[in-house]
Amino acid sequence: MSTELSLLINGDKVAGHGAAFDVINPATEAAIASGRMASVEQLDQAVAAARQAFQSWRKTSDAERTALLHKVADRIEANADELARIIVQEQGKPLFLAQMEVGGAIAWTRYNADLEIPVKLIEDSEHKRIEGHRKPLGVVASITPWNWPLMIAIWHIIPALRTGNTVVCKPSGLTPLNTLRLVEIINEVLPAGVVNLVTGEREIGEAISAHSGIDKVIFTGSTPTGQNIMANASGNLKRLTLELGGNDAAIVLPGTDVDAVAEGIFQTAFLNMGQTCAALKRLYVHDSLYDALCAKLAEIANAQVVGDGLAEGTSFGPVQNANQFQRVKELVEDAKARGGRILSGGAPVDGKGYFYPPTIVADVSNGVRLVDEEQFGPALPVIRYSDIDEAIRLANDCPFGLGGSVWGPDLAQANSIARQLECGTVWINGHAEVLPHAPFGGCKLSGVGVEFGVEGLLEYTQLQIVNCNR
Ligand code: NAD
Repeated sequence: MSTELSLLINGDKVAGHGAAFDVINPATEAAIASGRMASVEQLDQAVAAARQAFQSWRKTSDAERTALLHKVADRIEANADELARIIVQEQGKPLFLAQMEVGGAIAWTRYNADLEIPVKLIEDSEHKRIEGHRKPLGVVASITPWNWPLMIAIWHIIPALRTGNTVVCKPSGLTPLNTLRLVEIINEVLPAGVVNLVTGEREIGEAISAHSGIDKVIFTGSTPTGQNIMANASGNLKRLTLELGGNDAAIVLPGTDVDAVAEGIFQTAFLNMGQTCAALKRLYVHDSLYDALCAKLAEIANAQVVGDGLAEGTSFGPVQNANQFQRVKELVEDAKARGGRILSGGAPVDGKGYFYPPTIVADVSNGVRLVDEEQFGPALPVIRYSDIDEAIRLANDCPFGLGGSVWGPDLAQANSIARQLECGTVWINGHAEVLPHAPFGGCKLSGVGVEFGVEGLLEYTQLQIVNCNR
């Protein structure tokens, strides 16, 4: 199959006028769709459509928006099977994970649909009443990565709509098909121009960041790109939410039941073949359990069935793209050269497709690239420690601060260590769990702002103080 790619501007599907590109299935390396990216003039048209639509969308009532967003969720639900299959073909993940992604998209849509936008009472006295009201910003641009493409598009688009903004979205050029289908579905329910889609990579991304008709950029992707967006966005003081890279550390405390935690550690490290921003990416294990936990993780890794995400029985799909595949190979080879001991995987699978098995690397520590850099793939370095303060120091010795975790039976001790980790979310006896009602975001080079919950919703609004003298 080869699909023709398009843009969606003001309710109409149109062909791009920019450079040609193909969408590749990472399991086969075959092109499954082709088309042209948007030109900068087409981005201007999409922004103009969104600005026009904002004039009426901003006036819809909370109740109307809630009802319409539930209708959007119904339509996603009705198209769930198609969306999941598109995700597998362009992103690579096994079908059950793609189904989970679509399920998450529906759940997040319904949760945001029902969220109330609070009015804050600041003073209510004899002479005065002061209230804080939340107003939409205008046009929100969403720029998404290729790892959880549908889920992240929903995370961006739905709260923007709930708060009365209109949207121009730009999916990753590596995985645009599911977002295009999503935006078509949304356009079946909402008025033309409320949600628009353009394709493209760096050129269109930079034009979005600098566009005077866009009021906010919500971006999920790498830290260098986020820094570039921030630099380009100053002209009209765009509001920014930046969800960037991470290199999450986990600390396993002495006394932990290895058999009880190994599966959870494996699944949260290798979620989506390790291509998850808040996956567990560095594992610090106390000396007393190091060998036992390494052996158990290797056993779980070796039991994975690596293959095409649509094939029956596959538990582990390919890496999404050639660059990322190359990066994982390079980091594992470097770790081997620095004394890393391969306990599972350690080399790509021969043949077509970007298949790299789950790889556990022992006997490495900070200072080795696989530990220091965000590998964003199926390779987990396991680091031995004997002193807990040293483990905390090594965990924090990192420019990123997205997530972190502590694993152990003594919850008071785990809590006290958790509070010392420099990251936006810290889990105890878990990792990588994101929930629609728990704000999520990074510190240090992992980002600015939060998504999810009321705090996330309010990032799509401007606070207006109404100071009324009675
Ligand atoms: P990327 O930064 O290469 O690309 C992300 C998006 O930005 C794509 O749509 C791309 O076309 C666009 N883009 C590229 N150059 C641009 C520019 N100069 N201006 C504006 N947009 C531009 O990231 P990626 O490789 O697609 O995604 C992987 C990264 O995303 C990892 O670092 C991962 O940790 C991060 N991520 C973070 C979160 C989070 O919530 N913090 C979630 C998922 C992924």
